[in-house]
Amino acid sequence: MITIKSAREIETMAAAGRIVAETLALVGGHVRPDTTTEELDHLAETFIRSHPGAQPSFKGLYDFPATLCTSINQEIVHGIPSHKRVLHDGDIVSIDVGVWLEGLHADSAATFPVGDVKPEVARLLEVTQEALAAGVAQARAGNHVGDIGHAVQQVAERAGYSVVRELVGHGIGASFHEEPQVPNYGKPKRGPRLVPGMTIAIEPMINIGGSGIRTLDDKWTVVTQDGSLSAHFEHTVAVTDNGPRILTTVS
Ligand code: MG
Ligand code: MG
Repeated sequence: MITIKSAREIETMAAAGRIVAETLALVGGHVRPDTTTEELDHLAETFIRSHPGAQPSFKGLYDFPATLCTSINQEIVHGIPSHKRVLHDGDIVSIDVGVWLEGLHADSAATFPVGDVKPEVARLLEVTQEALAAGVAQARAGNHVGDIGHAVQQVAERAGYSVVRELVGHGIGASFHEEPQVPNYGKPKRGPRLVPGMTIAIEPMINIGGSGIRTLDDKWTVVTQDGSLSAHFEHTVAVTDNGPRILTTVS
Protein backbone atom coordinates (compact mmCIF):
# COMPACT_ATOMS: atom_id res chain seq x y z
CA MET A 1 0.00 0.00 0.00
CA ILE A 2 1.27 3.46 -0.89
CA THR A 3 0.74 5.86 2.02
CA ILE A 4 -0.04 9.53 1.46
CA LYS A 5 1.43 11.89 4.04
CA SER A 6 -0.26 14.97 5.46
CA ALA A 7 1.44 18.37 5.24
CA ARG A 8 2.32 18.02 8.92
CA GLU A 9 3.90 14.58 8.40
CA ILE A 10 5.95 15.94 5.52
CA GLU A 11 7.25 18.72 7.80
CA THR A 12 8.26 16.11 10.38
CA MET A 13 10.05 14.13 7.67
CA ALA A 14 11.79 17.35 6.58
CA ALA A 15 12.94 17.85 10.19
CA ALA A 16 14.31 14.28 10.21
CA GLY A 17 15.78 14.94 6.77
CA ARG A 18 17.61 18.02 7.99
CA ILE A 19 19.32 15.91 10.68
CA VAL A 20 20.17 13.34 8.00
CA ALA A 21 21.71 16.05 5.78
CA GLU A 22 23.67 17.53 8.67
CA THR A 23 24.91 14.05 9.59
CA LEU A 24 26.12 13.43 6.04
CA ALA A 25 27.88 16.81 5.98
CA LEU A 26 29.53 16.13 9.34
CA VAL A 27 30.65 12.63 8.36
CA GLY A 28 31.76 13.80 4.91
CA GLY A 29 33.97 16.39 6.60
CA HIS A 30 35.73 13.57 8.45
CA VAL A 31 36.30 11.33 5.42
CA ARG A 32 40.07 11.26 4.99
CA PRO A 33 42.92 8.76 4.75
CA ASP A 34 43.57 6.70 7.92
CA THR A 35 40.06 7.20 9.32
CA THR A 36 38.12 4.02 10.05
CA THR A 37 34.49 3.53 9.12
CA GLU A 38 33.77 2.78 12.79
CA GLU A 39 34.96 6.28 13.74
CA LEU A 40 32.56 7.73 11.18
CA ASP A 41 29.75 5.60 12.57
CA HIS A 42 30.32 6.79 16.16
CA LEU A 43 30.40 10.39 15.01
CA ALA A 44 27.08 9.95 13.21
CA GLU A 45 25.34 8.11 16.05
CA THR A 46 26.40 10.68 18.68
CA PHE A 47 25.29 13.55 16.46
CA ILE A 48 21.88 12.03 15.65
CA ARG A 49 21.13 11.18 19.30
CA SER A 50 22.05 14.75 20.35
CA HIS A 51 18.74 15.83 18.78
CA PRO A 52 15.83 15.24 21.21
CA GLY A 53 13.63 12.41 19.96
CA ALA A 54 15.88 11.50 17.03
CA GLN A 55 17.23 7.97 16.55
CA PRO A 56 19.33 6.28 13.87
CA SER A 57 16.91 4.43 11.58
CA PHE A 58 19.30 1.67 10.58
CA LYS A 59 20.46 0.40 13.98
CA GLY A 60 18.42 -2.75 14.57
CA LEU A 61 16.53 -2.46 11.27
CA TYR A 62 16.55 -6.07 9.99
CA ASP A 63 19.21 -6.49 12.74
CA PHE A 64 21.72 -4.17 11.04
CA PRO A 65 24.31 -3.38 13.74
CA ALA A 66 25.23 0.26 13.03
CA THR A 67 24.04 3.82 12.39
CA LEU A 68 25.69 4.15 8.97
CA CYS A 69 26.17 1.88 6.02
CA THR A 70 29.75 2.50 4.88
CA SER A 71 30.60 0.96 1.52
CA ILE A 72 34.12 1.32 0.12
CA ASN A 73 35.10 1.21 -3.58
CA GLN A 74 33.53 -1.91 -5.20
CA GLU A 75 31.09 -2.16 -2.30
CA ILE A 76 27.72 -0.85 -3.46
CA VAL A 77 25.64 -0.66 -0.29
CA HIS A 78 25.17 -2.09 3.23
CA GLY A 79 28.84 -2.14 4.24
CA ILE A 80 29.17 -2.55 8.02
CA PRO A 81 31.33 0.03 9.83
CA SER A 82 34.40 -1.53 11.46
CA HIS A 83 37.60 -0.52 13.23
CA LYS A 84 39.34 -2.80 10.73
CA ARG A 85 38.15 -0.81 7.70
CA VAL A 86 40.62 2.01 7.17
CA LEU A 87 40.11 4.58 4.41
CA HIS A 88 43.02 5.07 2.00
CA ASP A 89 43.94 7.92 -0.32
CA GLY A 90 42.18 7.40 -3.66
CA ASP A 91 39.28 5.36 -2.24
CA ILE A 92 35.64 6.29 -2.45
CA VAL A 93 33.24 5.64 0.40
CA SER A 94 29.45 5.61 0.20
CA ILE A 95 27.74 6.76 3.38
CA ASP A 96 24.06 5.90 3.81
CA VAL A 97 22.11 7.18 6.81
CA GLY A 98 18.53 7.30 8.06
CA VAL A 99 16.94 9.20 10.94
CA TRP A 100 13.70 8.46 12.80
CA LEU A 101 11.95 11.43 14.39
CA GLU A 102 8.46 11.53 15.91
CA GLY A 103 7.45 8.31 14.19
CA LEU A 104 8.75 9.06 10.69
CA HIS A 105 11.95 8.30 8.79
CA ALA A 106 14.18 10.14 6.30
CA ASP A 107 16.95 8.48 4.25
CA SER A 108 19.89 9.84 2.25
CA ALA A 109 23.25 8.75 0.94
CA ALA A 110 26.32 10.22 -0.73
CA THR A 111 29.63 8.89 -2.01
CA PHE A 112 32.73 10.80 -0.92
CA PRO A 113 36.25 10.77 -2.37
CA VAL A 114 39.01 9.94 0.14
CA GLY A 115 41.92 12.32 -0.44
CA ASP A 116 42.73 12.57 -4.13
CA VAL A 117 40.87 10.32 -6.56
CA LYS A 118 41.54 9.74 -10.25
CA PRO A 119 39.55 11.86 -12.73
CA GLU A 120 37.58 8.81 -13.93
CA VAL A 121 36.54 8.16 -10.34
CA ALA A 122 35.50 11.78 -9.78
CA ARG A 123 33.42 11.49 -12.95
CA LEU A 124 31.55 8.46 -11.60
CA LEU A 125 30.55 10.50 -8.54
CA GLU A 126 29.47 13.47 -10.68
CA VAL A 127 27.41 11.36 -13.05
CA THR A 128 25.70 9.48 -10.21
CA GLN A 129 24.75 12.81 -8.61
CA GLU A 130 23.44 13.99 -11.98
CA ALA A 131 21.42 10.77 -12.28
CA LEU A 132 19.89 11.41 -8.86
CA ALA A 133 19.01 15.00 -9.83
CA ALA A 134 17.41 13.77 -13.07
CA GLY A 135 15.35 11.24 -11.11
CA VAL A 136 14.27 13.79 -8.52
CA ALA A 137 13.15 16.17 -11.28
CA GLN A 138 10.66 13.52 -12.46
CA ALA A 139 9.07 13.13 -9.01
CA ARG A 140 6.03 15.22 -9.96
CA ALA A 141 2.34 14.59 -9.59
CA GLY A 142 0.95 12.95 -12.73
CA ASN A 143 4.25 11.28 -13.63
CA HIS A 144 4.86 7.60 -12.93
CA VAL A 145 7.57 5.74 -11.02
CA GLY A 146 8.93 4.60 -14.40
CA ASP A 147 9.67 8.21 -15.35
CA ILE A 148 12.09 8.44 -12.43
CA GLY A 149 13.89 5.21 -13.28
CA HIS A 150 14.06 6.09 -16.94
CA ALA A 151 15.67 9.47 -16.20
CA VAL A 152 18.26 7.90 -13.88
CA GLN A 153 19.07 5.16 -16.37
CA GLN A 154 19.48 7.60 -19.27
CA VAL A 155 22.08 9.67 -17.43
CA ALA A 156 24.03 6.63 -16.21
CA GLU A 157 24.05 4.69 -19.46
CA ARG A 158 24.86 7.70 -21.65
CA ALA A 159 28.00 8.07 -19.55
CA GLY A 160 28.88 4.40 -20.21
CA TYR A 161 28.01 3.15 -16.74
CA SER A 162 25.55 0.50 -15.62
CA VAL A 163 22.64 0.63 -13.21
CA VAL A 164 22.23 -1.86 -10.37
CA ARG A 165 18.89 -3.61 -10.91
CA GLU A 166 18.36 -5.76 -7.84
CA LEU A 167 18.47 -2.86 -5.38
CA VAL A 168 15.90 -0.10 -5.67
CA GLY A 169 14.59 3.07 -4.07
CA HIS A 170 11.41 2.94 -2.01
CA GLY A 171 8.51 4.68 -0.41
CA ILE A 172 9.36 5.89 3.09
CA GLY A 173 7.41 7.19 6.08
CA ALA A 174 6.33 5.48 9.30
CA SER A 175 8.10 2.41 7.91
CA PHE A 176 11.59 2.75 6.51
CA HIS A 177 10.76 0.72 3.41
CA GLU A 178 7.28 1.29 2.03
CA GLU A 179 5.69 0.83 -1.36
CA PRO A 180 6.27 1.66 -4.11
CA GLN A 181 9.61 0.25 -5.17
CA VAL A 182 11.53 2.88 -7.16
CA PRO A 183 13.90 1.14 -9.61
CA ASN A 184 16.78 3.05 -11.19
CA TYR A 185 15.71 1.88 -14.64
CA GLY A 186 12.39 1.79 -16.41
CA LYS A 187 10.10 3.11 -19.05
CA PRO A 188 8.28 6.46 -19.06
CA LYS A 189 4.63 6.39 -17.99
CA ARG A 190 4.97 2.91 -16.44
CA GLY A 191 4.52 1.91 -12.83
CA PRO A 192 2.48 3.53 -10.07
CA ARG A 193 1.29 7.09 -10.65
CA LEU A 194 2.80 9.80 -8.46
CA VAL A 195 0.39 11.88 -6.42
CA PRO A 196 0.92 14.73 -3.93
CA GLY A 197 1.76 13.47 -0.45
CA MET A 198 3.85 10.50 -1.61
CA THR A 199 7.33 10.40 -0.08
CA ILE A 200 9.98 8.30 -1.79
CA ALA A 201 13.68 7.62 -1.48
CA ILE A 202 15.35 7.89 -4.88
CA GLU A 203 18.77 6.24 -4.83
CA PRO A 204 20.79 5.46 -7.94
CA MET A 205 23.54 2.87 -7.47
CA ILE A 206 25.79 3.18 -10.51
CA ASN A 207 28.73 0.93 -11.46
CA ILE A 208 31.67 1.81 -13.70
CA GLY A 209 31.64 -1.77 -14.98
CA GLY A 210 28.86 -4.33 -15.31
CA SER A 211 25.57 -4.27 -13.45
CA GLY A 212 26.06 -7.65 -11.71
CA ILE A 213 26.17 -7.80 -7.93
CA ARG A 214 26.83 -10.32 -5.17
CA THR A 215 26.53 -10.34 -1.39
CA LEU A 216 29.56 -11.08 0.81
CA ASP A 217 29.69 -13.76 3.51
CA ASP A 218 28.79 -11.17 6.16
CA LYS A 219 25.30 -11.38 4.61
CA TRP A 220 25.15 -7.57 4.31
CA THR A 221 27.80 -6.06 2.08
CA VAL A 222 26.72 -5.95 -1.56
CA VAL A 223 29.59 -5.63 -4.06
CA THR A 224 29.96 -5.44 -7.82
CA GLN A 225 30.48 -8.86 -9.35
CA ASP A 226 33.35 -7.61 -11.54
CA GLY A 227 35.03 -5.61 -8.76
CA SER A 228 34.41 -2.28 -10.50
CA LEU A 229 33.75 0.85 -8.49
CA SER A 230 30.20 1.81 -7.54
CA ALA A 231 28.65 5.09 -6.38
CA HIS A 232 25.41 5.76 -4.49
CA PHE A 233 23.55 9.02 -4.00
CA GLU A 234 20.11 9.27 -2.40
CA HIS A 235 17.49 11.78 -1.32
CA THR A 236 14.11 11.44 0.32
CA VAL A 237 11.68 13.43 -1.81
CA ALA A 238 8.06 14.51 -1.31
CA VAL A 239 5.75 14.77 -4.30
CA THR A 240 3.92 18.09 -3.78
CA ASP A 241 1.48 20.30 -5.67
CA ASN A 242 4.48 22.48 -6.48
CA GLY A 243 6.76 19.74 -7.77
CA PRO A 244 9.42 17.61 -6.07
CA ARG A 245 10.61 18.71 -2.64
CA ILE A 246 13.88 17.25 -1.38
CA LEU A 247 13.43 16.57 2.35
CA THR A 248 17.00 15.48 3.13
CA THR A 249 18.57 18.91 2.88
CA VAL A 250 19.61 21.66 5.26
CA SER A 251 18.05 24.44 3.17
MG1 MG B 1 19.61 5.07 2.28
MG1 MG C 1 16.91 4.14 0.83
